[in-house]
Amino acid sequence: MAYVTEFYGSLVFNDKTMRSRLPKDTYKKLKKTIEDGKHLDLSIANEVAHAMKEWAIENGATHFTHWFQPMTGITAEKHDSFISPRDDGTVIMEFSGKELVRGEPDASSFPSGGLRATFEARGYTAWDPSSYAFIKDGTLCIPTAFCSYGGEALDKKTPLLRSMEVINKQALRILKLFGYTDVKTVKTTVGPEQEYFLIDKKLYDQRKDLIFTGRTLFGAKPPKGQEMDDHYFGSIKPRIAAYMMDLDNELWKLGIPSKTKHNEVAPAQHEMAPIFSTTNIATDHNQLTMEVMKKVAERHGLVCLLHEKPFAGVNGSGKHNNWSLSTNTGMNLLEPGDTPYENAQFLLFLTAVIKAIDEHQDLMRISVATAGNDHRLGANEAPPAVVSVFLGDELTAIIDAIKNGTAYDQKEQVPMKIGVHILPRFPKDNTDRNRTSPFAFTGNKFEFRMLGSSASVATPNIILNTIVAESLKEFADILEAVPAEEFNAKLHELIKSNLIAHENIIFNGNGYDDEWIKEATEKRGLLNLKSTPEALPYFVSDANIKLFTEMKVFSETEMRSRCDILLENYCKTINIEALTMLDMANKDIMPAISAYTDELAKTIAAKKAALSGCNCTYEEKLLEKLSCLLSSVYENTMALDKSLIAAKEITSLQQQAMFYKDAVFGAMQELRAAADEAETMTAKSYWPYPSYSDLLFHV
Ligand code: ADP
Ligand code: MG
Repeated sequence: MAYVTEFYGSLVFNDKTMRSRLPKDTYKKLKKTIEDGKHLDLSIANEVAHAMKEWAIENGATHFTHWFQPMTGITAEKHDSFISPRDDGTVIMEFSGKELVRGEPDASSFPSGGLRATFEARGYTAWDPSSYAFIKDGTLCIPTAFCSYGGEALDKKTPLLRSMEVINKQALRILKLFGYTDVKTVKTTVGPEQEYFLIDKKLYDQRKDLIFTGRTLFGAKPPKGQEMDDHYFGSIKPRIAAYMMDLDNELWKLGIPSKTKHNEVAPAQHEMAPIFSTTNIATDHNQLTMEVMKKVAERHGLVCLLHEKPFAGVNGSGKHNNWSLSTNTGMNLLEPGDTPYENAQFLLFLTAVIKAIDEHQDLMRISVATAGNDHRLGANEAPPAVVSVFLGDELTAIIDAIKNGTAYDQKEQVPMKIGVHILPRFPKDNTDRNRTSPFAFTGNKFEFRMLGSSASVATPNIILNTIVAESLKEFADILEAVPAEEFNAKLHELIKSNLIAHENIIFNGNGYDDEWIKEATEKRGLLNLKSTPEALPYFVSDANIKLFTEMKVFSETEMRSRCDILLENYCKTINIEALTMLDMANKDIMPAISAYTDELAKTIAAKKAALSGCNCTYEEKLLEKLSCLLSSVYENTMALDKSLIAAKEITSLQQQAMFYKDAVFGAMQELRAAADEAETMTAKSYWPYPSYSDLLFHV
């Protein structure tokens, strides 16, 4: 194997490749497009396309695809080959600028929430030149945005790019006030830590629930779970180590800067964290990472589970979205800095974030709302469904001093004034200090921990960028209007008044504690949107429509369609899970229990015939219990079946989603409880599925 430095990014049409393969002038113009979002004309696109194709062919590619991220949450691609037939029966390989910058996939089968009537099946994909093209399985993949004929976004990338523009604009206004006229762009940065489970493929293939839904719908708890905490950061088994090494190599070839790998809390659970990059690139990379994780697993006879809750009773998987803002001059705007003036600027950005999170708790919750993630949030492992901000003791002390107009430093008697004090350096918070906060300041960035493991990071970042941009806009409007000599006083006042107004959202304690949920909801009045159908209606509130339309991140139609898609997804997910359970119960579980009870009955009869006055207590008790449980499994399947029929009859999407959450999901849990109890009493040779012990402890 070659050195990492040699093959890193070898499958990416990156800056180095562009510079070496494009005419100087073309390269410069393309670079300008990438950096400033300038328009690219067709003649340049033609040259870029040509160079890209030559490079791709040399690296074994025969096809190209516009790679996009429809609202299904996964990526989509339609492959076209480069071939172009000649009259003499041969072909040449062609790829034009037009094919590079725009595609027209027939997109009628992607969810659009009514945005694109099916007779208008055309959707457009447009190249995102700020995310490098790459080669995957012999295909040149061009990262694109996906829109309808009318220009409405049908994907997650378009609004993400819009939100990045919005926050760029507002952050630049603030920086100008602090004298940074040289800064040209501010981009948000993201480092997503990705959790996953690895299980044996042979066992996976025996479980319809894993195959159809990504999680186990039945399964009694194993004698050992994660209670010993012996898996977290534990030494990595050889088979897993081989997988991780292979994964790193594949990711590195794609220019994905995979950095950290370790075992996670639950048995069979692991994590990968890349080095952070610009948000849209980090988003593309995370989508690719999830795909590569699954593909590499197959090569090792493993299956990578990205579901938020594959196993009941052990931790589920999440994704930590580390987020900050950085300038083209290399300044991290959430870095406290070395001088008081930098501190003041830092405190303003920090206040903007705090204000945004407090005012938009609903949107933060919605940004991570899926049926899968509902199993985690608030289930004593992930952060709760209540959104709060963790700042740590030091920063909280500074903020208290500002709020109360008291001295920060014990030695000093001068009240804390913004721009006068030099803040201490904050030690990078290792997450163990507070793993329970949904949104934690970790030294020079915020870590949003509510994300589910399988979801795209696009949505949370669209929300974060937009709401922080809104705060910055309000601050800039106020500060731009004051004369220079009043700037410092106004700045102090602005930070202070906002910290006081939004102190409710700050919580440094244990987020898993029931007491906190009580305090948050009863005393502080914070939102506790426990489930997806309860959260989603907030998305299209008047205030949120006003926010997104004014910021030009979503149109009202786009918002309504997205809300419908999310509700539909929720209903469909639970519907599929319920049908899978019925199938498993009817075809495998009940016949298995029945066969085992039949054997017990036969044994009892045989023993009694052989020995007069024979004691068959064990068999008789077991037979009685299992017969009882079998009846209750059966009755529960009937009840679940009935609730599914009732669900179909509800016409309001919102009410249907609530019904799925309460009635259907409730019936599923009852069915599971009966079947799981039966599993604990049925001989292993009769039980139709690999057990939790097999799945979790056999890699
Ligand atoms: P922990 O497990 O303590 O949360 P990790 O080191 O596993 O920390 O992950 C931290 C993540 O934060 C990494 O992906 C890292 O690249 C990312 N990160 C660091 N600085 C920034 C930043 N300025 N903006 C966004 N992400 C960042
Ligand atoms: Mg983390």
